[in-house]
Amino acid sequence: MIFGMDMFSPAEAPAAPSQRTRDQIEDRFKWNLSHIFPDWEAWQRGYDELDRKIVEYAALQGTLKKGPEPLLRALTLADQLGQLEYKVWYFPSLKYDEDQRDNTINGRRQQVQILAAKGSQAMAWFNPELLAIPLETVREWMQANPKLAVYRFAIEELYRQQEHVLDDKGEHLLSLSAQLSSTPNDIYAALSTADVRHPVVRLSNGQDVTVTYGQYRAILATNRNQADRAAAFKALHELYANTTNTYASLYNAVMQREWFHSQARGYASTLEAALHGNNIPTQVVTNLIETTKAGTEPLRRYHRLRKRVLGLDTYHVYDTTIPLQEFDRQYSYEDALAWLPASFERLGPEYARLLNDALSGGWIDVYENPGKRSGAYSAPVYGVHPYMLLNHNNTLDAAFTLAHEMGHSMHTQLSHAHQPFVYAGYTIFVAEVPSTLAEALFLEYMLARTTDERERSVLLQHAIDGIVSTFYTQVMFADYELQAHKLVESGRPVTAEVLSDIYFGLLKAYHGDAYDYDDLTRITWARIPHFYSTPYYVYQYATCFASSAQLMTQLSSKSESERRGAIDRYLTLLKAGGSDHPMTLLQRAGVDLSKPETIRAVVDQLDTLVTQLENEIAVP
Ligand SMILES: [Zn+2]
Repeated sequence: MIFGMDMFSPAEAPAAPSQRTRDQIEDRFKWNLSHIFPDWEAWQRGYDELDRKIVEYAALQGTLKKGPEPLLRALTLADQLGQLEYKVWYFPSLKYDEDQRDNTINGRRQQVQILAAKGSQAMAWFNPELLAIPLETVREWMQANPKLAVYRFAIEELYRQQEHVLDDKGEHLLSLSAQLSSTPNDIYAALSTADVRHPVVRLSNGQDVTVTYGQYRAILATNRNQADRAAAFKALHELYANTTNTYASLYNAVMQREWFHSQARGYASTLEAALHGNNIPTQVVTNLIETTKAGTEPLRRYHRLRKRVLGLDTYHVYDTTIPLQEFDRQYSYEDALAWLPASFERLGPEYARLLNDALSGGWIDVYENPGKRSGAYSAPVYGVHPYMLLNHNNTLDAAFTLAHEMGHSMHTQLSHAHQPFVYAGYTIFVAEVPSTLAEALFLEYMLARTTDERERSVLLQHAIDGIVSTFYTQVMFADYELQAHKLVESGRPVTAEVLSDIYFGLLKAYHGDAYDYDDLTRITWARIPHFYSTPYYVYQYATCFASSAQLMTQLSSKSESERRGAIDRYLTLLKAGGSDHPMTLLQRAGVDLSKPETIRAVVDQLDTLVTQLENEIAVP
């Protein structure tokens, strides 16, 4: 239940001119954690109670086979434990994010992590003990006991997952490989982070810059001199080119591990193994890739337009994120906040009421202060309300980040209010649907209200860049992962040359003649952390995006009754939390990711936006 940063992280924002300390910021711009616990003493009491409940839970070991009553007792106690854990964890965790220099609070945070580890050990007996009882018996118990029936989906899931669990001997053997399995990613982290010596480049203004990945992105997004962007690109990628054989060996090790585990557990492919957890058919990924590959024309048109507007003779990967125009309008937090109710109005009165709660105060931590955690997130504190951390710096990106995080928070609110605790959380596969949909609604509102041509074209670019980075790029990455894993599955050699050929082939397949290609882009695969840390993960950014595009189309229907139906189905999705497989939940909302038209909704959306931008922007 420990949640990380929001997965869409914006490029490094420029440092704020002057930073206020936390007590110089008015309370109405800070979250109020006393909604969780009034003070540290109350937190300590919660912590002690959690500790007692963990001991109580451990004592239930061996009772399940006695019948439905003990099973219900264990499930109910696990719920109580889980609910308390949210509050006990988030109180110090959010407090720590206010100022990460505070060692005392960090200590309390770690104290909870240690207790949580103790908790999962104390609960480890449950799954094997339940699975030793035949599913038919448990089904009879659930039939006879409505309170137990609440847990039906969670229980059936355990048995479904069981299909690929080995006998004790097999599982023991696999568990012995755990340390070995994590080694390739550990070496990758050491090589690319701990041991790396970042190059220094001299920019055209005489300034020397150390090219970390963050700096590289910042130069690409802000430096209007193409030669500077080229220099940063060359410096960063030469770093990987110099050690490309090592990266290829590490990536091969990651894929061999995946293939080993897949075969050991009886899956036909690494993709099948990766998707089994959420019960996603492999066709979802292949459909995503094929349909997107056939829909690259609007992407190419966008890049050709950029090349013309920027007045460049040649157009490279390092020219793809520089804004087409200078734009320094400020978006105050108050303005952005005031635009939310109007933006989300289409979702109806129930949504509006919940949004009003979120705006009532104490939920959002708005501004930067020394020591505060960077980025943005929405933290789902069960039994209280979601808390949102922002670092609002008056940019357009910051305004959209507010809309995005609010989308997450409304999802959390609806899911927590309508589901029993066991299904209150939702999977990553669905999580970014409401946040991207909130951004799309916000964009539409902003486009409708602006009378300024320049602002309109900046808004269009914002939307297009979102589709390029969270959809097209992620699909291309998923395509790369799939092709690379197939080499391993069919016993073909994996060398740096082969991996670079795959990547380069994809870059060309997606961008055609819209790019001028540099040899160094071939090795881009070597620097993508997700490939090493979480294989077959990035496709979910794209499927969430496609789902939200499809829902947006339905919510914009010209027919009032269709629109109403779409709102109902969408709210039902948000209220459903994790009560079923994500594909089933999305299908009920009218989104079928196994069908090409769902993916084509994004292609069409991009096509429309690029046409609008072409009409809007004067080409010299
Ligand atoms: Zn998000």
